[in-house]
Amino acid sequence: MALDSAQATRAATMDKIVALCKRRGFVYPGSDIYGGLANTWDYGPLGVELKNNIKQLWWKTFVHRRPDMIGLDAAILMHPKVWEASGHVVNFNDPLVDCKTCKSRFRADHLLEDKLGIGDAATKTPAEMTAILQDANLACPNCGNRTLTDARQFNMMFSTTIGPVSTTSQRVYLRPETAQGIFVQYKNLLATSRVKLPFGAGQIGKAFRNEITPGNFIFRVLEFEQMEIEYFAKPEESAAAFESWLGAMWAWIRLIGLDDAHVRVREHSREELSHYSSRTLDFEYDFPGTMGWKELYGLANRTDFDLARHQETSGVDLTYFDQAANTRYLPHVIEPTFGVERTFLTVMLDAYDEEETVDVNGKADTRVVLRLAPRLAPYKAAVLPLARKPELTAVARELFTTLQDELDTLVDYDETANIGKRYRRQDEIGTPFCLTVDFDSLEDGAVTVRDRDTMAQERIAIADAPAYLRHRVR
Ligand code: ATP
Repeated sequence: MALDSAQATRAATMDKIVALCKRRGFVYPGSDIYGGLANTWDYGPLGVELKNNIKQLWWKTFVHRRPDMIGLDAAILMHPKVWEASGHVVNFNDPLVDCKTCKSRFRADHLLEDKLGIGDAATKTPAEMTAILQDANLACPNCGNRTLTDARQFNMMFSTTIGPVSTTSQRVYLRPETAQGIFVQYKNLLATSRVKLPFGAGQIGKAFRNEITPGNFIFRVLEFEQMEIEYFAKPEESAAAFESWLGAMWAWIRLIGLDDAHVRVREHSREELSHYSSRTLDFEYDFPGTMGWKELYGLANRTDFDLARHQETSGVDLTYFDQAANTRYLPHVIEPTFGVERTFLTVMLDAYDEEETVDVNGKADTRVVLRLAPRLAPYKAAVLPLARKPELTAVARELFTTLQDELDTLVDYDETANIGKRYRRQDEIGTPFCLTVDFDSLEDGAVTVRDRDTMAQERIAIADAPAYLRHRVR
């Protein structure tokens, strides 16, 4: 496949990111000592920091800093009627194809797209997909035999039971999206928060989907986190709210440091729209290699579909009383939705860089550097005594404690290995600044600050270090 210019100049490949994530403690395969459980991943010491930084920044940006937004943290398990009302029991299906020989499973629409180049595959019925697959006599991508079954619908919700397994136990679902928690609490949110239209509720939480063909590292997993907003507006103002959220989502993409050239917006065709949507846009990211453009985030106009369905199913009046107009109506809902894992992955892919340089002995070397936006970096700075000598480590430890306290953020301390190796380690994990305490520090009360991106070094007074960093790591 020919690479476009943006791809050609990128250092990151999925394999390099997976390897770095494991090597440096960002992401490990789930249940690793048991050989792993397919498509589950655990976040290590640095991964959990990056993930938390993403979620905190999102919450600050979209909930704390907006007067028209409030927060919610709804339960994962919800009344089964929620999923009947939302349409998930009937509509939340993916078309599944099995290989009779090797038992591999595939999404029929993905086979049509990836193997036969059919762009609008998602709009086709299982029968249409089956006919196309049969006409093409497509071989199983795994074993090469021409033994693919017909496409059939497969519901993606995980289910479990509440109570001991008996006739009295209740079947419930693990939520496949966080959105429904907001719709179901809409009346309570309205009654208890003094909000008026337009307003929105934001929520961050786990969602679960029994994906047929998960994969591509953490891009498509069974258990993931969503950062979702349901924004309630007057029906006639919902189109304007949609445009305004489109701008807010672009601003977020820039805030987390993604390159505009790697992100595009794709409008769903009429046939492709979900059952609840009158308009949907996907923010797509240009993933490296053969993966190409895939969904990063979504923005949908869910109209009054969800509130109307919950009103009908629960029998509870969910209309909004508009005092100014003295009328009642169901608001329309704009939904910006963000995946935490896809944010994590794209931030890592965009930040990853390799630079040709020379090592301390003057030999050619490649420097791997993670150019993370400082506000997302797991460590904002690292304090490094030049040598493991008590007089240096005492000063370094004191500086480390001061920085942790005054910046109220995570700082690393490392006194192992030679200084060159320690710089490289910090480069690879995206630490924006290294502060080195050397023998001169004992005389002049200053340290050397090394910039991760430029490797430029400057000398600053130890006393000025918190203020120096505070402005640079926000
Ligand atoms: P896709 O087309 O990739 O399956 P979707 O359209 O089903 O995604 P939405 O229902 O819009 O996704 O979910 C909202 C967001 O949640 C997505 O934009 C994505 O960031 C994230 N997401 C959805 N499914 C997964 C998954 N299986 N693993 C990780 N993140 C996911």
